[in-house]
Amino acid sequence: MPELAVYATRPEHSRGRRYPEAAPQGRSEFQRDRDRIIHSTAFRRLEYKTQVFVNHEGDLFRTRLTHSLEVAQIARSIARGLRLNEDLVEAIALAHDLGHTPFGHAGQDALNSCMKDCGGFEHNLQSLRVVDLLEERYAAFDGLNLCYETREGILKHCSRKNAKALGELGERFLRKRQPSLEAQLCNLADEIAYNNHDVDDGLRSGLISLEQLLEVDIFRRHLHAVRKQYPAIPERRLIHETVRHMINTLVSDVTGQSLKNIRQISPKNPDEARMAKPLIAFSASISEEQQELKQFLRLQLYQHYRVARMSSKARRIIFDLYHAFIEDVKLLPPQFQEKAGGDKARTISDYIAGMTDRYAIREHRRLFAVEELWS
Ligand code: MG
Repeated sequence: MPELAVYATRPEHSRGRRYPEAAPQGRSEFQRDRDRIIHSTAFRRLEYKTQVFVNHEGDLFRTRLTHSLEVAQIARSIARGLRLNEDLVEAIALAHDLGHTPFGHAGQDALNSCMKDCGGFEHNLQSLRVVDLLEERYAAFDGLNLCYETREGILKHCSRKNAKALGELGERFLRKRQPSLEAQLCNLADEIAYNNHDVDDGLRSGLISLEQLLEVDIFRRHLHAVRKQYPAIPERRLIHETVRHMINTLVSDVTGQSLKNIRQISPKNPDEARMAKPLIAFSASISEEQQELKQFLRLQLYQHYRVARMSSKARRIIFDLYHAFIEDVKLLPPQFQEKAGGDKARTISDYIAGMTDRYAIREHRRLFAVEELWS
């Protein structure tokens, strides 16, 4: 690993954990965070949560787990180029989607509307709840007791109201400061990962075609370059090569542009970088191309009628589950009934958010299918 830059986050300068612990042996504080995330229950559940396509629609589509691994890989590459902390970006990337509901964004929107009078539901805040509170693995504390810097990176967005309730971690939203460069970087790595894997999954599913994608500048440019070099290349390999080249372009663009931004400000430490404008960024031209690709995916893939049908069923499942539990908490598994004595709505929201796609479908069947009276 290259020597860390002065503006990189150093584990020995961490603002620490909520519950103080002895320093780890043989690994850094951020490596310990990464290890705790990988061993968590919420991390294993990512395997059965939808990114865009419902898990059982095909074996090759991305899930939240493979998405998170791709984000971690891309984030580490960029971190290396900028001499930022690779261990911290890995921990943030692996944890960034832990709070997602089943069924992707449709699930989150449905749960948010169920919870509208009870504080709402937001997946970033939920990821933080998972690592701060909901994981039950350690004798001495709830959650994973991660370092401040990892938690800061997980909390990408936050309303002012929620920020006020979060204390030290919410401060930057009130003072309009940036998070660490490592956290900024994970945000862009997330975007690079999903734009590119959604192109790949979209083509594989047949919901979008190569012809349609040729309207998108960044895709056409890279596809032509591959075809020029390999005129007889079969279509599947052509797609993989094109996506691979696009990821390469985006990673080197972020690295180059961010280095320029960093040099302009020359922060002498991570806190000076937090006070500047966002320094991790695409160049203007690539940013424009990314917007075009995003817009294409929104219209042609995320709003495709078959995705819309899936989303509509997903919303119904979440609504039904939520209202059944709100009306009768005795339908909840015993450990959740106990907690529902405190904040009923939030307990139900935590239970539903933790479900995998197939668990939610099964739970819905158990509660509503009259053929399954005894379940
Ligand atoms: Mg993500």
